[in-house]
Amino acid sequence: MPPMLTCPICGTGVKADSFKEIYVSPYNKEEYKRYECPKL
Ligand SMILES: [Zn+2]
Repeated sequence: MPPMLTCPICGTGVKADSFKEIYVSPYNKEEYKRYECPKL
């Protein structure tokens, strides 16, 4: 089983590797993965 995230709005499970893009913050160089709820 792949790790799952949970949508904070509706609680739908989102696969952790199904992110849409990676955003790197110019401030701290941290990578943020952007997810979209599959129910939207
Ligand atoms: Zn949702």
